[in-house]
Amino acid sequence: MGSFAVIGAGAMGSGIAQVAARAGFPVILRDVAPEYLERGLATISASLDRDVRKDRLTLAQKEEVLARIRPVTELAAVAEAEVVVEAITESFDAKAALFRELDALTRPEAILATNTSSISITRIAAATQRPAQVIGMHFMNPVPVMPLVEVIRGRATSDATAGYTLELGAKLGKTCLVANDFPGFVSNRILMPMINEAVFTLYEGVATREAIDGIMKLGMNHPMGPLTLADFIGLDVCLAILDVLYEGFGDPKYRACPLLRQYVAAGWLGRKTGRGFYEY
Ligand code: NAD
Repeated sequence: MGSFAVIGAGAMGSGIAQVAARAGFPVILRDVAPEYLERGLATISASLDRDVRKDRLTLAQKEEVLARIRPVTELAAVAEAEVVVEAITESFDAKAALFRELDALTRPEAILATNTSSISITRIAAATQRPAQVIGMHFMNPVPVMPLVEVIRGRATSDATAGYTLELGAKLGKTCLVANDFPGFVSNRILMPMINEAVFTLYEGVATREAIDGIMKLGMNHPMGPLTLADFIGLDVCLAILDVLYEGFGDPKYRACPLLRQYVAAGWLGRKTGRGFYEY
């Protein structure tokens, strides 16, 4: 198997590295400083421990999976990779700069994928000289648990790149479903307006937070209510994606609820800050 490089060892990058190593790929995991790599590897180890406890993996197999992941801080280490999956901070400038470097560094036939939740694949691809080989691989959080990869074709993505990516996703044990490159793709274009509408129902006093979440959970068979889910995702992330939809379509139906904006302004970002629509 050709090597699989992951850039960014945060919540998503560490999960992607884990799934690739578990599927048998030699993985190069790159972050900017050793402490981020250590944190990522600790997350992977803890996740594999859960599989060991559930008898889905032996201790020896866990060690084999970990041994397949090579943590690096030097970007040059990814030069020979067959495929690179980028999972760095959600910033167009940061991603464009990284893709320019990857384009200069990697083999001409390498595929460059991005795990972005909301940035245009077409725009990231345009930062390179190989836009036909740039594609979105939108994994879901937590990556080892969630079966889906939303594969996003940029305007210039070739059929060969899309075909390669679908095969790669299958090797990772994921189900890939394809979307074209428009704001929010499919997942966030549908999810975020639902969350936003839940915030509007709270804002307008239609129901309590518990009733809103309970109605969607028990009535629609959702595993968690939309306000709980928003707290889990991060209210700042939800707001940023709604703003991408609003600006991308120029349609007021995507305007973020003022209550969501106010919570973000207050620093109530959800689970990660101890307070969002609920207290943690
Ligand atoms: P995170 O903040 O947990 O991790 C990002 C990591 O990237 C950090 O460790 C940071 O040090 C590192 N980094 C930043 N610039 C770098 C560079 N130039 N080279 C190498 N490493 C660099 O973020 P995350 O939640 O893992 O999100 C990563 C990407 O995945 C984002 O584009 C996000 O939109 C997307 N995404 C996130 C989720 C989610 O639920 N968290 C779901 C789907 C997609």
